[in-house]
Amino acid sequence: MILRLLRSLNRAYPFVVLFGYMGAFVLAFICIFSFPLGALVLIIGSVLSLAFVVFFGEALSGIEGILTRRALKKNRCPACRTGPIQKNAAHFQCLGCGARFHFDGAQLSADEQEACASDASGTSAKLIAVE
Ligand SMILES: [Zn+2]
Repeated sequence: MILRLLRSLNRAYPFVVLFGYMGAFVLAFICIFSFPLGALVLIIGSVLSLAFVVFFGEALSGIEGILTRRALKKNRCPACRTGPIQKNAAHFQCLGCGARFHFDGAQLSADEQEACASDASGTSAKLIAVE
């Protein structure tokens, strides 16, 4: 439950931050004409808050990585909560939904999963060609 909530929070966090900063920019732009000191405070506050925003995002993804590794050790997929987990040489793979995870708990992106699948099929194609 916590892992599922954390996963969705981590997926939404960059967009929340982006729209928060865009809102601050629009507000600062409006303040330029009406209250210039407010625009200055907003810009300085936004720049100074960036370190905390990045730190909070890293902390969230770190906690998600810990919980993901714990779920993978229990042979439970963090993405679909079912399926046996197969441990490959480079990553964990859920046999139920096909999701792949690095050993640090991060889920492989769609491009990385595609590259892994094409590597595997390329290897088998080479084996077929040799035979
Ligand atoms: Zn799965």
